[in-house]
Amino acid sequence: LVDRMRGFGTTIFAEMTALADATGAINLGQGFPDTDGPPEVLEAAQRAITDGHNQYPPGRGIPALRRAVAEHQRAWYGQNWDPDTEVLITAGANEAMTATILALCEPGDEVILLEPAFDSYWASIALAGARAVPVPLQGHDLRLDPDLLRAAVSPRTRLIIVNSPHNPTGRVLDRTELQAIADVATERDLLVVTDEVYEHLTFDDHAHLPLAGFDGMRDRTISISSAGKTFSVTGWKIGWVCAVPELINAVTTVKQFMTYVNGAPFQHAIAAGLGLPPERFEQIRADLQAGRDVLVPALAEAGLDVLPSQGTYFVTADVSALGESDGLAFCRSLPERCGVAAIPSQVFYAEQTPRPLVRFAVCKRPDVLAEAADRLSALH
Ligand code: GLN
Repeated sequence: LVDRMRGFGTTIFAEMTALADATGAINLGQGFPDTDGPPEVLEAAQRAITDGHNQYPPGRGIPALRRAVAEHQRAWYGQNWDPDTEVLITAGANEAMTATILALCEPGDEVILLEPAFDSYWASIALAGARAVPVPLQGHDLRLDPDLLRAAVSPRTRLIIVNSPHNPTGRVLDRTELQAIADVATERDLLVVTDEVYEHLTFDDHAHLPLAGFDGMRDRTISISSAGKTFSVTGWKIGWVCAVPELINAVTTVKQFMTYVNGAPFQHAIAAGLGLPPERFEQIRADLQAGRDVLVPALAEAGLDVLPSQGTYFVTADVSALGESDGLAFCRSLPERCGVAAIPSQVFYAEQTPRPLVRFAVCKRPDVLAEAADRLSALH
């Protein structure tokens, strides 16, 4: 293994899912739903296979899906993207992010991350030979401090990666935080890459605001999203990028040599999914929020300090009140102790975490979450 990839080893998701499988624990670690997505979308994939959409799709994705993505951005956010020149379909958001970093960063360039940051960003930055510069989110609720962001910018800064709704914390960045990012990006003439895969999964009155819609941001934002979370089909790996033609061309140049193309029948199905009426999106969102509302009180009752879960598949809790100081050790012992698996958030930090934070998935059936809640009460 090359030096720059040493230390990445096996992902925490693979480790904790294997541990959950081996112990029979309820897997609240890796974020994947235990119910498949809308029947309309599942049936559209079956139909696409029967209809013979099984060979290489076009390199940028099938026109119907590129049009559906552009229409989705217009209908939900009032943005206009040309489906022929400003939209690219990828193998999930993960490929979109890696291809973007590889396309835009020279070795030695710096990429700013909001820390904790999803594990694959660190690996993609390393793969490009670039340097990750973490900006730690602050306070009990883990908010962005604009001064820390500003201080992180250097002459080598190439990109800022912004993930909201945010994995692992479950926070949805608010207008003030996003405006601060837009201000820094425009003042310092920087590109921003957004990971918006949880865009439709926000709770209560927390709305997702896409950064590309802020003043001065359209031309400097590479907006990434995907279908897996919205439609509960995380194994399909259909993602997309919206950006101005020059940036889309750069990302496409790299993407074509990573997977070439991907998921032809699933592209047809997601084109259908993106066209579902808003009530169907609302149903998916409401079901997930109901899951959060089962797990959050259970974690609080078990004595954990629960951080606000405003969106995503996740809720984050501080386990120090249980006398735990090491989240990784806690998560490795949790399946034995009470039959539940979770993810230690320290894997999303470059160095040691200030607090032992643990991430629990809420994207499970209500009966499964109720059983997990019951088991977690044993921690008390
Ligand atoms: N995005 C999912 C999570 O955060 C799955 C990640 C993975 O398996 N690599 O749990």
